[in-house]
Amino acid sequence: MLGGGPCGLYAALTLAKAGKKVTLLEKEEVTGGLARGHKRGENFYDLGVHMLHAFDQGVFETIKEIMGDERIEVPLNARIKWAGSFYRYPLQFGDMVKGMNPFILAHCCIGLLAYQSWYKMRPKDPKDAEEALIQLYGKPLYKFFFKEFTTRYWGFPPTQLSATFITTKMPRLSAVDVIKKMLAKFGIKDKSVHAVESALSEETLHYSRKGAEAMPRLVAEEINRLGCRVIPNAIVRGVTLDDAGKRATGVSYRDSETGEERSIECDHVISTIPIKDFLGAFGDHAPEDVRASAEYLKTKAVTIYGLLVKKEKAIDALYIYYRDKAFHRVGEPKNAGLLVNPPDHTVLIVETTCEVGDAKWNGDESARQAIFADLEKEGICKPDEIVEVNLLRTPHGYPIFGLGFEPHLVKVIDFVDALENVQTTGRQGGFCYPNMHKAMRMGADAADRILAEN
Ligand SMILES: Cc1cc2nc3c(=O)[nH]c(=O)nc-3n(C[C@H](O)[C@H](O)[C@H](O)COP(=O)(O)OP(=O)(O)OC[C@H]3O[C@@H](n4cnc5c(N)ncnc54)[C@H](O)[C@@H]3O)c2cc1C
Repeated sequence: MLGGGPCGLYAALTLAKAGKKVTLLEKEEVTGGLARGHKRGENFYDLGVHMLHAFDQGVFETIKEIMGDERIEVPLNARIKWAGSFYRYPLQFGDMVKGMNPFILAHCCIGLLAYQSWYKMRPKDPKDAEEALIQLYGKPLYKFFFKEFTTRYWGFPPTQLSATFITTKMPRLSAVDVIKKMLAKFGIKDKSVHAVESALSEETLHYSRKGAEAMPRLVAEEINRLGCRVIPNAIVRGVTLDDAGKRATGVSYRDSETGEERSIECDHVISTIPIKDFLGAFGDHAPEDVRASAEYLKTKAVTIYGLLVKKEKAIDALYIYYRDKAFHRVGEPKNAGLLVNPPDHTVLIVETTCEVGDAKWNGDESARQAIFADLEKEGICKPDEIVEVNLLRTPHGYPIFGLGFEPHLVKVIDFVDALENVQTTGRQGGFCYPNMHKAMRMGADAADRILAEN
């Protein structure tokens, strides 16, 4: 098993429970991947507040049992700041229009109707994310709401993002439903309308007093207890194939503590590490065109500013999304039950997307000042209340669905699929956007494929 995030841990757990001998290699000192807890001083900081959804009953029951008393239940309370006010997240169309000037609103509604009618009559595959957003929302609403935010978030305009990102990540907003919902707000109700509401609107989430830290730790302990091995500080470097080049026979890794190179034999490999890095582990065994395709599978880096703040409480939510600030989300895990030391302080998880090596990534003074200034502007905290700044970073926050990435992903996955005993899965290995429960289900599915063979 390569990679000890939620997907790799759950796959290893599934195999371990079935009595298989599993070795999990994780490059970091602790397991959990994006969902791991970072202890800094006396406190725990998540890499973006991570709470488990209970949507997958099988995964949830397993994790519930393993977490025992360490699991706490948290009612969802996510908000978004829009046009000077706070609304439930994700933003509903009805709330979106509240912040709009009536003339712009009318323009946007006409645009929405016109573009949706046009594309209904003349369906067309959108060539990029901009065209996909315009097909979904019309040009006026795209320009007003989506264009700048998308650019700010990704660091490049929607014209460089694949339409696949929009079509697979965003629910379709029907113009007719929007109009009917608006009428409903004025008391003119149509009971036949089933507008798409987010599954996130009312929900109980699952967390721990130490934040995201508990779940991966306890799952790793369970895997070890079942007689298998979770090896931290193990950076996967190579995969060896048999003479026919059809099966993996071993995996080599470097122990980052001692610098030693080691290898283990294997009957099967499930990889959950970034697909581009995994491809690199095959060296020249991967054809040149496949290696070239892997270069297109890039990820967006994330830097979290984990702040210890001398303040009892800073925001009135678990997390709040912002559209036009130096950060895009601020979480206060204490409001979900995180224990903070000292108790009259709080922890803020301030999320930013960035590039590896830029000012945000490095935590440069300019980036800090911009973030602190926006936190103060939003009334969240003052710079002199911030007593600790902890930088938590990953180059692999979000797979980038760049324009034209699809055939390159197919080519790399085809190469891996052609190997009889190798699978690549999870968020990094599958180059997709699962939440933790979905990533764990992907891990369980990969494990089940192996169990079905034996
Ligand atoms: C900011 C943010 C907030 C999120 N919040 C939530 C939330 O609240 N709830 C939710 O359900 N989901 C949330 N998610 C999604 C969640 O993080 C992912 O679904 C989950 O982490 C995916 O698990 P994974 O195992 O597939 O990948 P990862 O968690 O990325 O795990 C991959 C693992 O591979 C390891 N690895 C990489 N390279 C190597 C190598 N060469 N050798 C060995 N190991 C290696 C990594 O260290 C890592 O441990 C959030 C994601 C982000 C970015």
